Amino acid sequence: MTRPLLNRRLDGFGTTIFAEMSALATRTGSINLGQGFPDTDGPEEVREAAVRALRDGRGNQYPPGPGIPELRSAISEHQARRYGLAFDPDTEVLVTAGATEAIAAALLALLEPGDEVIALEPYYDSYAACIAMAGGRRVPVTLRPSAGRDRFVLDLDELRAAVTDRTRLILLNTPHNPTGTVLTRAELAAIAQLAVERDLLVVTDEVYEHLVFDGEHVPLVTFPGMRDRTVTISSAGKTFSFTGWKVGWVTASPGLVNAVRTAKQFLTYVASGPFQYAVAEALRLPDTYFSHLADDLRAKRDLLSNGLVEAGFDVFRPAGTYFVTTDIRPLGDDDGFAFCRSLPARCGVVAIPNAVFYNDTNGGTAFVRFAFCKRTEVLHDAISRLKQLRS
Ligand SMILES: *Cc1c(COP(=O)(O)O)cnc(C)c1O
Repeated sequence: MTRPLLNRRLDGFGTTIFAEMSALATRTGSINLGQGFPDTDGPEEVREAAVRALRDGRGNQYPPGPGIPELRSAISEHQARRYGLAFDPDTEVLVTAGATEAIAAALLALLEPGDEVIALEPYYDSYAACIAMAGGRRVPVTLRPSAGRDRFVLDLDELRAAVTDRTRLILLNTPHNPTGTVLTRAELAAIAQLAVERDLLVVTDEVYEHLVFDGEHVPLVTFPGMRDRTVTISSAGKTFSFTGWKVGWVTASPGLVNAVRTAKQFLTYVASGPFQYAVAEALRLPDTYFSHLADDLRAKRDLLSNGLVEAGFDVFRPAGTYFVTTDIRPLGDDDGFAFCRSLPARCGVVAIPNAVFYNDTNGGTAFVRFAFCKRTEVLHDAISRLKQLRS
């Protein structure tokens, strides 16, 4: 057999770095600050709601294709309460198997082969693969260190210059994984204006909407002209610390939801039946739940960021998400891959080289990402281990 088994669209998409690094963490007994999942579960009452649904026989058989009505209503109410947005739960909300399926379904539904997709680089690993599976062409616009080298910023001129006659959509992500950048109101207004001017769709991944530490999260769809050209994606995983439940959702105008549902119904059809009932209750938790979640993670952001500075890293302090990106050059290293592969042996910590989130293998070579969505004592332990690097 001379023909390779993996088709050309998926050429280069081997095993994700997360599998390699998590296996390394287990093998070496290292603290895993690689993959972004909390090491404590979300609210007890939400977990109990899932148990109740299972016991009461709700969601144990195929739930409705678009998601159970209780959850679609709760999502619609959340958008209204939080952002003053009105989405019809019957025609403008779609429940998916996590944000991951929503991203895949949106790209498969909205792209023709050859369409260009602009994505903020470094990007979440599924974006490149999904654009490729949909036959689209990925056009990266790279977030770069600010003049003060304290955060990553978007160059709006670069974004404008990346739009061509073949551009179908912008795949946005704010708060941004892995850099922790939260796009400002002014930046979002400029992106919205560009989308309107060039008649583009925007698929916006806002799974970290509640994990903002400085500034505010403003949904792109709130800007003039965006209501009918924006597919907003979010998920219960990060907001409620149940990343294994895989309950995500899309909110958009009826035509866009219809398109995404057409692709989605042939991916999983439906998923996470009983968990949908639990997430419907979770979305109705009082505002204090959401503010405590952000406060708790802000303290962890500060703890790990300060520890990394003391350990000798250059730190880009994130305004949101689970992650802090560092530059390893002050430690005398410049190859993030080699650094991350050697880190478990050197000090018993696992991190992720940001180069995996870039288009070309030379991008972001010296940047390394650490997750701080872990218990305080775990972070303290990791910091004291990382401080050994310099001795
Ligand atoms: C975690 C994450 C997702 C995936 O969300 P799920 O609901 O677990 O599928 C999507 N986008 C970004 C940026 C993420 O960090």
